[in-house]
Amino acid sequence: MTTTDPAALADRVADGELRIHELEDHADYDTAAEARRLLVERETGADLEAVADYTFDAEQADPNVDNMIGAAQVPMGVAGPVPVDGSAAEGDYYLPLATTEGALLASVNRGLSTIRSVGGATTRVTKNGMTRAPVFRVGGVAEAAEVVEWVADNVDRLREAAESTTSHGELLDVEPYVVGDSVYLRFAYDTKDAMGMNMVTIATGEACELVEEETPADLVALSGNLCSDKKPAAINAVEGRGRSVTADVLIPGDVVEDRLHTTPEAIAEANTRKNLTGSAKAGSLGFNAHAANVVAAAFLATGQDEAQVVEGANAITTMDARENDEGTTDLYASVSLASLEVGTVGGGTKLPTQAEALEILGLRGGGDPAGSNAAALAEVIAVGSLAGELSLLAALSSRHLVSAHEDLGR
Ligand code: NAP
Repeated sequence: MTTTDPAALADRVADGELRIHELEDHADYDTAAEARRLLVERETGADLEAVADYTFDAEQADPNVDNMIGAAQVPMGVAGPVPVDGSAAEGDYYLPLATTEGALLASVNRGLSTIRSVGGATTRVTKNGMTRAPVFRVGGVAEAAEVVEWVADNVDRLREAAESTTSHGELLDVEPYVVGDSVYLRFAYDTKDAMGMNMVTIATGEACELVEEETPADLVALSGNLCSDKKPAAINAVEGRGRSVTADVLIPGDVVEDRLHTTPEAIAEANTRKNLTGSAKAGSLGFNAHAANVVAAAFLATGQDEAQVVEGANAITTMDARENDEGTTDLYASVSLASLEVGTVGGGTKLPTQAEALEILGLRGGGDPAGSNAAALAEVIAVGSLAGELSLLAALSSRHLVSAHEDLGR
């Protein structure tokens, strides 16, 4: 039976008659959220007026959140437009970014306008594969080798089992790793326009049943952390996960001086000493200035899984001063994101503000061909990251960073 009285529902939860996650069984989704807010307000003294001020359909958000009480709003800005020459992205793009960091949009916009002034950036997805790596228990090394051999001989059967669960996903590869009596199988899929984590988890579960039927291996966990999801991991930096994407641009020295108030040599030196040597000394996985800023803000704006910023920001930035035929110096700048996991369908991409942000990019929903929208999104984010790297390195090498923050008062 449903009710429209949130206070009565909150009382029933407080009395232990109902559990907090059961409210949607007894009321519509908005009333359930209101009852939870009342409960939390009573128990904590917090005023949740702003949290209550959401505009999306609470029922539509049900796949995205449990125990909903409302929404967290993050300001969204836009940078660009920037011309992009990609394998999937082609043309001029505005980049929507959601952030609470003042000066981020201004910085990315400065980088993008510099890139625009030289005709745009080039970008390519060079590898694509969302991974899931279950871990199996075996009796010892001999059985482990038996499983590895069986996998090598039966990739087609594994593919058939995995792909029986999805009409879009395609199994690309299964890479085995052995540690004593543990066998890890790193399954990689083309998930088209979906980021794909649910899709590949379900598909891999089906394939695991076949492995257990046909080999001595016993499944211990569907994720054995060699995937590697939402943890900093060298395997993603080396092998890639989701899309590996690179963006680059060549900027004449006079443009660097006019727009960025520094020189190709000074930016290249700052990049080498900071992003490469400094990061190496720090034992960092990422060799960049702040790729996470653009990746995180683009993820929040477009409904990506924000925890995957961990691997999405795993990037290497290069900056070189290149002599050209006229005897002057250009700046070659690139950023390579090894494991950018993005989708334009599924997950949070359907929510209204996130879908509108994807519309700004012209990348809402499935692409034609399937996969082209997610690939284009990865390429545009890579160009945005390149702009962020250019702008920050320019600010550092021209020593303008402190004064820029002071001028903007933050
Ligand atoms: P999803 O919302 O679970 O599924 C997306 C589905 O959209 C696909 O499975 C596919 O159905 C369908 N689809 C329609 N058009 C498509 C197209 N053009 N390209 C690709 N698929 C298309 O999304 P997901 O990307 O698989 O998973 C993302 C969600 O997983 C996020 O909410 C994330 O937070 C969550 N997540 C889950 C795990 C986990 O371990 N399960 C881990 C991390 C994150 P068919 O498969 O039937 O073709």
